[in-house]
Amino acid sequence: MAKLPTIAIVGRPNVGKSTLFNRLVGKRLALVDDRPGVTRDRREGDANLLGLEFRVIDTAGYEDEDPDTLPGRMRAQTTAAVREADAALFLFDARAGVTPLDEEIGRWLRSETTPVILAGNKAEGRAGEAGLLEAWSLGLGEPIPISAEHGEGVVDLFEHIRPHVEREDEEAEDEPEDENDRPLKLAIVGRPNAGKSTLINRILEEERLITGPEAGITRDSISIDWEWQSPDGRLRPVRLIDTAGMRKKAKVQDKLEKLSVADGRRAVEFAEVVVLLLDATLGLEAQDLRIADYVLQEGRALLIAINKWDVAENHSHLFQGISAALQEGLSQAPGVPLLSVSAMTGKGLDQLLDAAFKVREVWSRRVSTGQLNRWFEAAIERNPPPAPGGKRIKLRYITQVNTRPPAFVIFGNRLEMLPDSYLRYLTNGMRKELDFGAVPVRLSTRTSKNPFSKDD
Ligand code: GDP
Repeated sequence: MAKLPTIAIVGRPNVGKSTLFNRLVGKRLALVDDRPGVTRDRREGDANLLGLEFRVIDTAGYEDEDPDTLPGRMRAQTTAAVREADAALFLFDARAGVTPLDEEIGRWLRSETTPVILAGNKAEGRAGEAGLLEAWSLGLGEPIPISAEHGEGVVDLFEHIRPHVEREDEEAEDEPEDENDRPLKLAIVGRPNAGKSTLINRILEEERLITGPEAGITRDSISIDWEWQSPDGRLRPVRLIDTAGMRKKAKVQDKLEKLSVADGRRAVEFAEVVVLLLDATLGLEAQDLRIADYVLQEGRALLIAINKWDVAENHSHLFQGISAALQEGLSQAPGVPLLSVSAMTGKGLDQLLDAAFKVREVWSRRVSTGQLNRWFEAAIERNPPPAPGGKRIKLRYITQVNTRPPAFVIFGNRLEMLPDSYLRYLTNGMRKELDFGAVPVRLSTRTSKNPFSKDD
């Protein structure tokens, strides 16, 4: 795995370095030893800041007991940490203002070549305003107001750290294993009698490699692990969610006890990919659309399969009719893959599984920051955001904060004025131009609140 970029937090004692470290790393790490005279361990951790991943070093571990000096020992270790880091995060106490020790640290950092991010901590409320203004005098650029204790200023901090830690196209290195070697968690949902139990049994019947049912996640669902032989001859693991024993039920022909809505929900929560099964003899009904909508809202990758194709009439007319009805009824996710299958004869089952693996791949995909922002800039240029009251909404950049499902955050100013229609324009662009297709894509916005920002 590639070494993560590093940020070293520096500053005089008690400005909140450790609090910030803990917030960035997201867990409370006990200090190794608090007794005077004992050197505390260098504290390092993996930080995650709105999806930005980097290594963070808390140089508080190098501090001496006397808060008014900057002894040589601390200085030597801090110097080494700063020189190794991609950037130094220089923290001062915005309430206390700039002290002589801050000035000393500032002079030293200016003499180093490591880039410096200046942040005034304890700036919740208005208490830090004077101190922040004062900090311009350190000659290290714009001081960012934050509150490590209250978690404020996160977005501004993100914006300032990002250029130092983001590296192009390194994402793939995080997951060296082929995703297709991980079991595909698959659930099959649909109205009663759509043929879910029949489909599960048919799939399992065809596959000779069932490893046997295993106790599942909830009392009444069971996951069945098996391997599907894909058309390229490879065996791919599948974990099928057999909610409330659909498999067994079809065997004993117990048609009285049907799946409850709650069973379906649990299966959806557990799954990566959900197949919504329709009954070809009944077509698409409002209830099907509600289920589809629920699956997408839960952020799962959705496939729709028309079952009982063996007894369907007027095939192409039926397919086109359902396709058009989906287009209209599922406008929030245009182009959900639609297939035809027969649980009875086995027709279309390989294509269904193949499509399920493909859609999971898209659902798990990470777009490189470069590609993402090239697309973003072009999309904005083609269709600039509106300017309510004559003041243009400024969209600065976009970042992918998550996968499975893919989630993105747009940074900028006056984003609260951005109409939903514009977000839809961007989401649709992502589907088409970044190949997310009908996978549910989450897009949100964050406004920069920095009072010193040049854009405000
Ligand atoms: P579930 O409630 O969704 O689990 O539906 P079942 O699997 O119990 O199936 C309901 C009925 O549809 C049963 O009588 C099945 O035999 C029938 N069925 C399921 N799939 C097919 C199919 O592909 N073709 C035909 N002709 N009948 C099917």
